[in-house]
Amino acid sequence: MPMPYREKKIDHMLVDRETIDAFIKRLGKEISRDYRGEELFFICVLKGSFMFAADLIREIDLPCQIDFMSVSSYAGEKTTGVVKINKDLDSSIAGKHVLIVEDIVDTGLTLNHLKSLLSTRNPASIGIVTAFDKPMRRRVDIHVDYVGMEVPNEFIVGYGLDLDGYYRNLPEVAVLSDKE
Ligand code: 5GP
Repeated sequence: MPMPYREKKIDHMLVDRETIDAFIKRLGKEISRDYRGEELFFICVLKGSFMFAADLIREIDLPCQIDFMSVSSYAGEKTTGVVKINKDLDSSIAGKHVLIVEDIVDTGLTLNHLKSLLSTRNPASIGIVTAFDKPMRRRVDIHVDYVGMEVPNEFIVGYGLDLDGYYRNLPEVAVLSDKE
C-alpha cells in the first residue's frame, strides 16, 4: 500500500494552531487600532492567503470589504519582472485604504510588482499584511506593515500554503521532508 501523500512528505510541524490564532488576534487588534475611524479594503491574494484572510477579517473591528486577486510573477532570476493578472479585482480601489493580504513574503518580488500595479489605481493608501515572512530571502526592499511571524528559510505548507496544490487544508504549518 503506498503511503498517503500527506504522511509521506511531512518532516515536522513548525507552527501550531495556538500560535496562528494568537498572531491573528494580535494583527486584528493592531490593524483595527491603526485604521480607527476609516474603512478598509482587503485584497486577498489567491490562492495561498484565502485561509489567513478569512480568519483575519473576523478579527477586524472596522467596516471593511474584501476582494480577491490572482497573480503570477514572471520575475524569474531578474528583479525587473512583471506580474501577470490571472484574476483582477471586481471593484475599484480608488480613494480606499487598501491592505494586501499575503500568505508568505519570500523574495518580495511578487508583492513589489503587485503593490506598484495597485498604486496606479489611486487608492488612499496601500499596506501589506502577511501571515509568514522569510526576511533572509528578500531580494527587493519592500516594507511589510504587518507580519504574523517570521519563519526559517525552509519550504512550508499548510494553513493555505501548498505544494502542487496539496496541503492547503492542513490547519497548522509543516516543513516537508526532502525525501520522496
Ligand atoms: P516572492 O515573490 O516573495 O518570492 O514569493 C511569494 C510567493 O511564493 C508566496 O505567495 C507563495 O505562493 C510562494 N512561497 C514562497 N515561500 C513559500 C513556502 O515556503 N511555501 C509555499 N508553499 N509557498 C511559498
